[in-house]
Amino acid sequence: MLLADSPAAGADLQAWTARLSNMAYILAAVLFIMALSGLSKPTTARRGNALGMTGMGVAVVAAVIQAAVVSATEPEAHRGPVVTVILVAAAMGLGAVYGIWRATSVEMTGLPQLIAMFNGLVGLGAVFIGYNSYISPEHLDTSDAAMMAFHRGEVFIGVLIGAVTFSGSIVAGLKLSTRISGAPVLLPARNLLNLVLLGIALVLLIAFVVLAEGPWAWAALGVMTALALFLGWHLVIAIGGGDMPVVVSIMNSYSGWAAAFTGLMLGNTLLIITGALVGSSGAYLSYIMCEAMNRSFSSVLLGGFGTDGGAVAGGEDYGTHTEISAAETVELLKGARTVMITPGYGMAVSQAQYPVAELTRKLREAGKTVTFGIHPVAGRLPGHMNVLLAEAKVPYDIVLEMDEVNDDFDEIDVVLVIGANDTVNPIAEEPGSPIAGMPVLKVWEAERVVVFKRSMGSGYAGVQNPLFFKENSDMLLGDAKASVEALVQGLQTAEVR
Ligand code: NDP
Repeated sequence: MLLADSPAAGADLQAWTARLSNMAYILAAVLFIMALSGLSKPTTARRGNALGMTGMGVAVVAAVIQAAVVSATEPEAHRGPVVTVILVAAAMGLGAVYGIWRATSVEMTGLPQLIAMFNGLVGLGAVFIGYNSYISPEHLDTSDAAMMAFHRGEVFIGVLIGAVTFSGSIVAGLKLSTRISGAPVLLPARNLLNLVLLGIALVLLIAFVVLAEGPWAWAALGVMTALALFLGWHLVIAIGGGDMPVVVSIMNSYSGWAAAFTGLMLGNTLLIITGALVGSSGAYLSYIMCEAMNRSFSSVLLGGFGTDGGAVAGGEDYGTHTEISAAETVELLKGARTVMITPGYGMAVSQAQYPVAELTRKLREAGKTVTFGIHPVAGRLPGHMNVLLAEAKVPYDIVLEMDEVNDDFDEIDVVLVIGANDTVNPIAEEPGSPIAGMPVLKVWEAERVVVFKRSMGSGYAGVQNPLFFKENSDMLLGDAKASVEALVQGLQTAEVR
């Protein structure tokens, strides 16, 4: 099927479609930037998501139309528009079915693994597109030697970042889902090894650009891909489980840069813009998280951070803990004026956010001042607690960040620690502990602390928590949802003043 009856008309049609696509790409880029701005606050996050989805819809339609017009006007070089559209629709259909199934079936607690997997797929995509673009650089003038050399550089760097992202994300996903141990695996001289690998990649890059084609050029690309896969594995395997949040964020950033290089290879401006947006926002989020966890950004980029703290703490004798019942906690709350709730991963696991919202409502109705203290890495993904509390309709204005509350715990009568552990662990203040230096919520400075969890077991970082043994803390053992429901029930039957 031909859309234009002469080569000149075909070229005209292609030029017009390219112009329209570029306009659509600018619109999509603006929508993506507005989406990022919307996602920065819980109140505007839904709108941000909708804008992002609209932008992606515009981009996909524009790209498919452009591809269909090219194959319609150059049928001898392409498969024709019908086959092109069928191939694109089949790929998108498969992706959509799998994506919708995974996104709807995933538990909130499994989201970081899912994000890690998506990041990995972007990396793998960049590797495939890089190889494909090297084999058939269709949109380029192959007689322009300088342009082709530049293109080979783009291919090489895109494949390198893509392969590092792919294997690094797989390891992060496996660690997060506990299919492999979260403990860091430290090869001797690991930083030197990383630098040597990057040095070899640089030599191979020069060889690849100069050789251009033939078995040796292929060998340079192939060897670099294998080394990059190893580098991705090595960077992430050296990082301890407690530091995985930053790794997921940094892999997200790498996937953005891989996409940006894919855009350069394909000459697609929107992919360059989108990749740069994802790459830079991911890098900035990683930076903010590093600040929150008191880690140095450069050590994250080199991998193996969070592993120099010395011996893993545990086994120390902190004395004996005291337990408290739900009924006693109700009495405690009845006498309190100020209550702070510091939720963590256990609230997400037990889905306790709904009874927590109900408890908050009841306490506020009884005239108590209730606030939430949110640690930046509580739960298993950035913003995890904020999302859960928003879902349960806890008012945004009482949900405060760690920095906003950390100096005020001495004014709080009762802190309810709901399924949090590492984020309220005072051992972080002791040099040499595995989480040393990570800022934590200083809940122990409040008058009384009640910790809701099922056992005396450790949190994600595998470190014992001396908070449980402090004189002003009591353990309310059991599933967090059941315990909070018991409090709500208790407050309902008691007259709260
Ligand atoms: P932790 O993972 O340190 O501790 C959670 C606690 O919840 C556990 O000790 C567990 O104790 C308890 N728990 C589990 N299930 C239940 C339940 N049904 N009812 C009651 N309690 C339950 O949580 P934090 O939120 O304090 O810290 C987050 C950790 O996760 C940090 O180390 C952070 O670095 C890491 N991380 C964070 C990510 C992020 O982006 N936010 C991503 C990946 C990791 P028990 O078994 O005794 O009940």
